[in-house]
Amino acid sequence: MDTTTVPAKTTRLQRGIALYRDHADGIRFERGVWLVPFLSEETTVYEVRLGTRGASCECRDHGYRHVDCLHIHAATIAKAKTRECAGCSGRFRGRDLVEVAPDSLTFFEGDELCRPCARAHDEL
Ligand SMILES: [Zn+2]
Ligand SMILES: [Zn+2]
Repeated sequence: MDTTTVPAKTTRLQRGIALYRDHADGIRFERGVWLVPFLSEETTVYEVRLGTRGASCECRDHGYRHVDCLHIHAATIAKAKTRECAGCSGRFRGRDLVEVAPDSLTFFEGDELCRPCARAHDEL
């Protein structure tokens, strides 16, 4: 028997990737804060802040060990995969954004809006 193949402990990054993969729709961005659901209880969320001076999370893993926990990793992935709405500054995935009309009087060419903002500004 080969004793060297001890299963590697999953890293926080791997768990963060899995969390994003399984719960991408549950990760939200509101008022500058990422809301990342618990793995076990999706109705509860951790608040994650991705600041220029480092990230923070409410969970104990981050609070005690000051490491990038799986929530921070999941939020970082969510940030990379989303873009900002020029209307409400919320972050959305590409398929949920629409580009403003080139002759828009309210926004700049190339700006993108989430669907509620696009409807509100008559840009759909
Ligand atoms: Zn956390
Ligand atoms: Zn918007």
